[in-house]
Amino acid sequence: MLLVFLNKLLDKYDQKINLVLKLSVSLDVIKKRIIGRSVCTICGKIYNEFFNPAPINTNCCASRFLQKRSDDILEIAVSRYNTYEKNIEPVIDFYKEHNLLEVVNGEAQIDVISDEISGLLDRI
Ligand SMILES: [Zn+2]
Repeated sequence: MLLVFLNKLLDKYDQKINLVLKLSVSLDVIKKRIIGRSVCTICGKIYNEFFNPAPINTNCCASRFLQKRSDDILEIAVSRYNTYEKNIEPVIDFYKEHNLLEVVNGEAQIDVISDEISGLLDRI
């Protein structure tokens, strides 16, 4: 198993893992990030109708200039999410059992996530 190999490699170089971070984002939020995403074809700014809507009174980023991604990208993303969650589960369980895992809310604002990770890093 990969974890056994990783531990052997860490031992060989006299290294160890002090902290494992998991940024947790629900499938619903990932879907909204993809479905709601649009790009202004004039200036290239990226918006999201759920989390970061385009300004209403604007010439450049008016709705007629916003372009959405196709639905097949959503299907691919959902498939990747499910595969990732299934594959990562034994790794998460392993580090949880060794009290190394910290789960960070990846749905929070970026500055909140950054502060939380900084706080966790300060403890090691
Ligand atoms: Zn624009």
